[in-house]
Amino acid sequence: MKKLLSPVFALVVAFFVSTPAMAATPSLKTRNVILVTLDGLRWQELFAGAEALLMTKEAGGVTDTNQLRKDFWRETAEARRGALLPFFWRVIATQGQILGNVNKGSLAKVSNGLNFSYPGYNEILTGAPDPRIDSNAKTPNPNVTVLEWLNQKPAFRGRIAAFCAWDVFPYILNRERSGLHVRAGWEPMVVGNPTARQALLNELIGQTTRVWDTVAYDSFVFHGALDYLKDHKPRLLYVAFGETDDWAHDGRYDRVLQSARATDGFIQQLWETAQSLPEYRGTTTLLITTDHGRGSGLKEWKDHGQRVKGAEFIWVAALGPDTPALGERSNTQPLTQSQVAATVAKFLDEDFRSAKTNVAAPIDAVFAR
Ligand SMILES: [Zn+2]
Repeated sequence: MKKLLSPVFALVVAFFVSTPAMAATPSLKTRNVILVTLDGLRWQELFAGAEALLMTKEAGGVTDTNQLRKDFWRETAEARRGALLPFFWRVIATQGQILGNVNKGSLAKVSNGLNFSYPGYNEILTGAPDPRIDSNAKTPNPNVTVLEWLNQKPAFRGRIAAFCAWDVFPYILNRERSGLHVRAGWEPMVVGNPTARQALLNELIGQTTRVWDTVAYDSFVFHGALDYLKDHKPRLLYVAFGETDDWAHDGRYDRVLQSARATDGFIQQLWETAQSLPEYRGTTTLLITTDHGRGSGLKEWKDHGQRVKGAEFIWVAALGPDTPALGERSNTQPLTQSQVAATVAKFLDEDFRSAKTNVAAPIDAVFAR
């Protein structure tokens, strides 16, 4: 039997249909966002794959040049990037968008002027650069991130989590003030009542010899995040991978390529897992970016910062039901890192710019008009 609209319901419908602000906002399919960062992965590798100049013992600290060439060297940039980041170039480039190819007139930049991690993550997550954030020290962030802001809303409370390789993230996300679920660095990735598999993950994190004291291996972070996604179904999951930056600082170009390739696989598995779950299938947007670029040439590829030429160039990738499948973009409106926060919020139908005055606008290009 067909039910007639009640008069009150009809009035409510009429109100929303006739309100111009509502009419101007296209309804989005996205209900959940997975935000991923790869620390200091250069746009050069993302768009052109492995660089020949650096695939040597001298410039890149490569231990097995033959194997590295076999794994990552191809004749064309398109083939090289596909070998390095197959999920980006097979899936995101055909179903989503990748912005930031400087050679194709798509500029994405850091706007804090410092081009290193804490200022970058602060800019990505709070929607604005802040000159007070001028070191990587473990100082609680005075700014509110989009994660913390959303977490204050009933629809998102307790449904936001962050899994991070770098142990400064509990301060960047101000875990103490925000109350967000944040697992970072070498602390156990799973809290509460871990399953046998999760207990093993925690044990491995505690027992594995560390290359870096402040950055845990991305594989540990990935498995922490993947299990959390399956068990808790967060509406906003942030995964911050770290190895691509640290291997570069160590001068190991082989490890940079290997860790980038591994991370591409982690992102693929996160995406495919989400698509296998009814809570996420067809209603999830994946956003991927980086905190800074790096220099170029035989030495400066290892480094980044205020004085390193080109370290301000970043990139952004998006995949989901509300992002037109335009692939690798060229000649786009220049964008800044600060636009990511409001973009995350907009996908979740929230306006982060209403939170404070200096928040940058969402990235228009990744939304349908
Ligand atoms: Zn770094």
